[in-house]
Amino acid sequence: MPPFPALTVVTPMAKLTGSKKATQFTESVIREMTRLSQQYSAVNLSQGFPDFPAPDFVKEAAIAAIRAEVNQYAVTWGARRLREAIAQQFTARHGVPVSPDEQVTVCCGATEAMMATMMALIDPGDEVIVFEPFYENYGPDAILSGATPRYVTLREPASEAERREWTLDPDELAAAFNARTKAIILNTPNNPTGKVFTREELESIAALCRKWDVVAISDEIYEHIVFDGWRHVPIAAIEGMADRTVTINSLSKTYSVTGWRVGWTISPPALTGAIRKVHDFLTVGAPAPLQEAGVVALSVAPTYYAELARAYERRRNRLLEILERHHFTCFTPRGAYYVMTDIGAFGASDDIEFARYLVRDVGVAAVPGSSFYRHPAHGWTKLRFCFCKSEPTFDEADRRLAKLVPHPVH
Ligand code: PLP
Repeated sequence: MPPFPALTVVTPMAKLTGSKKATQFTESVIREMTRLSQQYSAVNLSQGFPDFPAPDFVKEAAIAAIRAEVNQYAVTWGARRLREAIAQQFTARHGVPVSPDEQVTVCCGATEAMMATMMALIDPGDEVIVFEPFYENYGPDAILSGATPRYVTLREPASEAERREWTLDPDELAAAFNARTKAIILNTPNNPTGKVFTREELESIAALCRKWDVVAISDEIYEHIVFDGWRHVPIAAIEGMADRTVTINSLSKTYSVTGWRVGWTISPPALTGAIRKVHDFLTVGAPAPLQEAGVVALSVAPTYYAELARAYERRRNRLLEILERHHFTCFTPRGAYYVMTDIGAFGASDDIEFARYLVRDVGVAAVPGSSFYRHPAHGWTKLRFCFCKSEPTFDEADRRLAKLVPHPVH
């Protein structure tokens, strides 16, 4: 006699499905392009990570921290020294007082910082305003936190004369706010457009936030990567906004360490507790030795940031020159490290097909424009390239793109 009675196996599989939330968004197109790029040994100008080394002083600091046995959990909301460095730098740069104890939470990258903030602030049914084209994470962030997204479109430069600037329609912006609006997500300098929001634009957004009692969640991960004499203005520095802004940033782009996963929020004290609770139960904390290295990174001399911006401006100019010579119409970015392009010259009207052709047959990976829009059709003639790459990578991309021929005009 067996010790237990035989079980009757019932095999319905209805519960073996993803949640409704998880079925509302697709896998990341950007990360899929990186996988295809590896599969076809393509030059990867899709996902935004540098192919050049991280600075030695930052790497040495991480190695030293590991050797010094900073290998166990840090304080959940971030090592005190890092929170102090973040607060000091923000105050010194932007003149906004920040308390490391009451306002700074260190997370696993800006990605977790955004998700933890949204989950901490949003109730189902709350509306969240998102500018499009948008960084693709904001859509799933809104769904996972139960938000109802309201989109405001950044108008693409229409003519040769105004080719550079993406603009905001003040009436469309104002119409997006109502009593259900809980937050607005901003990203400046902007991925994918390269737009740097002007002080005037931020003031008009701030006025609406104050009028409708709305929180600004501002992703400023490219704050140091600005060109042509443009300046990054954080919305927290606009009058009346420090108390209603969550500023999100990270080590990823500024110090070329996207794999480290160290980011942070600077929030009004009234919101910090909620963000810290969500962060704690999502991840417990960011990598402890890399937080120590973050302290060293943030104390670097200001010349580091000036050189970072100059080096990216050179890379931007190189990529623009290559893409334009190979018949892409480019929207010149003012900041961040991406170029949005129009692929109309190739007679292409399906960005995904064109991106697949480019990665498979030409050997260059880029991101289909539709992944940045709520209505994919708005991005069907667009492709995004990144320029956080080294000279040999640009040389190789240039060589491969020579295979492309423009569509004959009839
Ligand atoms: N926010 C924006 C606008 C980005 O472009 C990216 C990465 O490309 C991230 C956040 C991700 O940041 P992190 O690596 O700190 O999670």
